[in-house]
Amino acid sequence: MRSQRLSAEHRAELARRLETARERLWAASPGGSAATAMRVSSAAVIEARMAAMGCPHCGGSYRLLEHTRPLPQLRKLDVECRRCSSARALWFALADRESN
Ligand SMILES: [Zn+2]
Repeated sequence: MRSQRLSAEHRAELARRLETARERLWAASPGGSAATAMRVSSAAVIEARMAAMGCPHCGGSYRLLEHTRPLPQLRKLDVECRRCSSARALWFALADRESN
């Protein structure tokens, strides 16, 4: 009995660690934070990019809650997973056409 309980706790701990690792990996990947904002050629493609991304928890698609512009070249999308309801922010950086 005791070993089964420990095993369940152990599994929960492993699941929690995996979740933390996934979140860290996600935050470091393109679009996960302002510092790693995903580069796009124009604002018009941002919502299509969002639709192509999946929730790191369950692979579900995102529902857009709010599309904001913290800086002229930066866009922030507040989204929520349609499947598990986890909320997150997706970051996009607009390419500066003048410099290309
Ligand atoms: Zn999800």
